[in-house]
Amino acid sequence: MGYSLGEVTVVLSEKGILLGDETYIQRQGDRIEHLATDSRKISFAASSLFFALTTATRDGQNFIQQAYDAGVRNFILHQPPDDRQALPDANLLVVTDTTLALQQLATYHRNRFTYPVIGITGSNGKTIVKEWLNFLLEDRFKIVRSPRSFNSQIGVPLSVWEMSDEDQLGIFEAGISTVREMQYLQPVIAPTIGILTNIGNAHDSGFNNKKEKLREKLLLFKKAQIIFYTAEKDWIHDEMERQFKGSPIRLKRIGHDTDADLVLLSATVNEQTHTTEMATLIKVTDGQHKQARYTIPFTDQAAIQNASICQAVITYLGMPAAAFNEKASNLPVIDMRLQVLPAINHCSVINDSYSLDQNSLQVALDLLNQQLPSKTLILSDIPGLHGQDNAFAYEEMAALIHNKHVHRLITIGPEWQKFAEHLNVPVLEQYGSTTAFTAGFQPGQFKDEAILLKGARAFGFEAIFYLLREKVHQTRLEINLTAIVHNQKIYRSLLHPNVKMMAMVKAFAYGSGLLEMASVLQYHNIDYLAVAYADEGVALRNGGITVPVMVMNMDEYGFETLVAHGLEPEIYSFRLLNQFIHFLNSQGLSQYPIHIKLDTGMHRLGFDPAEVASLAEQLSQQRTVYVKSVFSHFTSSEDEHDDHFSLRQGSLLIEGCEILETALGYTFIRHIANSAAIARFPQFQLDMVRLGIGLYGINTTHEDLPLRTVATLKATIAQIKELAPGETVGYNRMGKVDKKTRVATIRIGYADGFSRMLGNGRGQVWLHDKICPVIGNVCMDMTMVDISAVAAAREGDEVEIFGPHLPVQQMAAASGTSSYEIFTSIGQRINRIYVED
Ligand SMILES: *Cc1c(COP(=O)(O)O)cnc(C)c1O
Repeated sequence: MGYSLGEVTVVLSEKGILLGDETYIQRQGDRIEHLATDSRKISFAASSLFFALTTATRDGQNFIQQAYDAGVRNFILHQPPDDRQALPDANLLVVTDTTLALQQLATYHRNRFTYPVIGITGSNGKTIVKEWLNFLLEDRFKIVRSPRSFNSQIGVPLSVWEMSDEDQLGIFEAGISTVREMQYLQPVIAPTIGILTNIGNAHDSGFNNKKEKLREKLLLFKKAQIIFYTAEKDWIHDEMERQFKGSPIRLKRIGHDTDADLVLLSATVNEQTHTTEMATLIKVTDGQHKQARYTIPFTDQAAIQNASICQAVITYLGMPAAAFNEKASNLPVIDMRLQVLPAINHCSVINDSYSLDQNSLQVALDLLNQQLPSKTLILSDIPGLHGQDNAFAYEEMAALIHNKHVHRLITIGPEWQKFAEHLNVPVLEQYGSTTAFTAGFQPGQFKDEAILLKGARAFGFEAIFYLLREKVHQTRLEINLTAIVHNQKIYRSLLHPNVKMMAMVKAFAYGSGLLEMASVLQYHNIDYLAVAYADEGVALRNGGITVPVMVMNMDEYGFETLVAHGLEPEIYSFRLLNQFIHFLNSQGLSQYPIHIKLDTGMHRLGFDPAEVASLAEQLSQQRTVYVKSVFSHFTSSEDEHDDHFSLRQGSLLIEGCEILETALGYTFIRHIANSAAIARFPQFQLDMVRLGIGLYGINTTHEDLPLRTVATLKATIAQIKELAPGETVGYNRMGKVDKKTRVATIRIGYADGFSRMLGNGRGQVWLHDKICPVIGNVCMDMTMVDISAVAAAREGDEVEIFGPHLPVQQMAAASGTSSYEIFTSIGQRINRIYVED
C-alpha cells in the first residue's frame, strides 16, 4: 500500500486541510510507503515522505538537505526552502503545521480500515497492556500495534501508518502530558475499543488537577463502542458515569466492589512449590453467574490490574476461558527498553528478542548504529507468515539490513536458509535453529563489535544472549540514554536563540561513562565537550568523537598528545601560555585554538582581571594561538545568598572579554554559566553554556525543571537471615536487633562508593516498593539492610541504591556530601549498563 504525494494533496485538500501555502509537484509516480521525521534514520529514502517537524529544540527544516542527500524526494515543509535550487527534482508541499499534517495523513490512512482498533491510555501500564494483549491474541488475529512505547503526538501517527489490509486488529497507545493534546490523537487512532489503564494521583505539571487529566485522556474514547477501566467507586468512576452515562458507549468497570461489571474477588499470592517463581491466583466474576480463575506469574498490584483488564477485553473479543488461562500463566515480563550490555571479547550486545517485525528491527538497528563501528546482527525467521507474503517480507527485511550498514548477518531458522542467498545481505553464517547455533558456539567468533540479537520469542534467543553476555559482578549502574537526551532538551529549551551548548564529560562523564555519554551527545548535536585531562580527550578521539573538545587541566607534558588529537586547551596562566606558544612554534604550528580562563572569584585557575590588559596585549602580537573562547566559572550559582557575588563574576567576565576583543580585533565565544546558572542567570548565557550535573538529571536550583533521572545504582541480595532479638549485625556489633528481624546482605560496599557514613540507619535502599535502612557498619564489599518490612524478598532480588525511587540527593545528604561526589565515587568495577526507553 502507499500513496503518491499528488494523491495525498488532493485527498486531504478536499477536507480543506493539507493543501498548504505552496506546492511544488515536480515528479510523478513516487509511491510513498514510509514516513520519515529524522534525517539520520532514513531506511527507504526513495519511498519515504519526510516531515520537517518543529519541536521546542529542533527545526526539521534544517535537515531537509541531509534527507535529500540520503535520497528522499518527497517533503512536507512548514516554509519554502531557503534554496529551492538545492532540491531539484523534489516534491515539496508547504503547510502551516507539519505535525498536524502528519496526524491528518495518518487519520486519512486510519479511516481506510474497518477492523477493530484498541486504543489504550492511562498513567501507567499502557505498554504492558498492549504487549500482553498482543501476546494473548497473536495466534488469533494478525495484529498491528505501536512499536515499543510510541505514544506521542508524533509516535502515534507513525504507528497508525503501519496499518494494512492484511491486519485484523490494531492496538495503539496514546500518551499525553498536557491539555489539548488528546484531541489530535483521537482521530488518528479512532479506537473502537477503549482501555483506561489507570490514573495516577501524582501531580502532573501539565494539568491543573487530576480530574482535568482524566477528562483529557477520556477524549480518546469519544467514538468508541466500549471502554474498559479499573476503578473502585471513586472519583474516576463518578467521572466516567458523568461523561458517558446516556451515550451509546458501554462502560466495563473492573473493581473489587460487588457493583463492578467485573468483580475482582481475590488475588492470592502463592509460592509454587517446585520453582522459586511467585504467582498470583486471580478470581473474578461478572457479577451474575460466571466465575473465572486464572494464574499469572507476577505478584505486584499493577500486574494484577493489568492482567484483569486483559482478561476482560479478551473475553469481550470471544476468546475461550481455557485458552486465556493457559496463556495467562505464561505472561511475559515486558521490558521494552533496549539495553546495551557489555559482552565477551570487548563486544557489546543489545538483546531485543521479544518480538520481530520490521518496525522494531528498524528501531533496534538505529540503536546499533550508535554503538561500536563494527556491527553484527543475529536474526531469526519472521514469525506468522504464510505463503506469498513470505518472500516479500524477507526481501523487505534484507533491504532494511542493507540500508542500515550491518556488517555481518547470522541467520537462525529454516526460512532464512531458503531466502537469504537470493537477497543482498552480508550473510556470514546460517543455522537451522537456536540450538544449532549454541551447540557450535565459539567465543572467538566475536570480537570488538556491537551485536544485535533480534529474534521472535519462539526462537529462545535468551540462550544466545547468555553465551554472549559478560559474566560480571551483578552490582550495576544503569544509565538511561533517553533521559540524558531529554535533559539536554530541557536545558536547550531554556537557552536564548543561538546560544551554544558545551557538555561537561569530565570525571568519566560524572561517573556515567565517558565515551557512551559523548557518543549520545554528539549524535544529538552538542556543540562542544569538555574534559579535565588530555587523556580523557584522547579516549574521546579514539572512540570516534569528532566534536571540538576543551581540556581544562593542562600541563606542558600533555601538549604533544593534545595537538596530536586535535584537542583544545584551557589556558589559565602566562606560564602555560608561553609554554604552549613555545611548543607550537617548535612544531611549526600556528593559529591553534585556545580557551582563556579568567578567575573572577573562584581562585582556582585563571588569569586575574588585573592581568587581562597585558594578556590582551601579548595575544594581539602573535598568531601562534587564536582565542576560540574566553570563560570563567561561578563559585555558587545555585545559591541565592551569593547572588550579588555571581552578578559581579558575570560582569567581570564581560568586561574582560571586551578588553580582549578590542585588542584582538576578532570575536570569540564567551561563557560562564554552568547548569544552575542556565536556569538562574539567563543574562549570563552569553554565547555558550556549560552543562554538567543537570544533564545527569540533578537540579541543584529551586527552579521547577522536569528533569529525568539518568543513573540508577542497583545491587543484589546475596543472602537473607532471620535474626532473633539480642543478636547483632556486622563489624563491631554495631547493628543491634531488639525484635525478630530479617536482614539481607547486599553486594555493595564502601569500595564501590557506598560510603561508610551510610552505616547504622543513616543510609537506605529500596526493595520491592519499600524503603529499608542499613543495619550495622557498611563493609568494604557488602552491606546489611533490615528487610523485615518486605516479606516477599528473596535471595537474588535487586535493590535500588539510588535512582527513580530513591533520589541520589537523599543518599548525598545522608552521607554528608553532594550528588557530584556520589556519582564520581561509584567504583570502576561496577558495570555501566546503558538503556533506552
Ligand atoms: C564541572 C564544571 C561545570 C559544570 O558544572 P555543573 O554544576 O555540573 O553544571 C562547568 N564549568 C566548569 C569549568 C566545570 O569545571
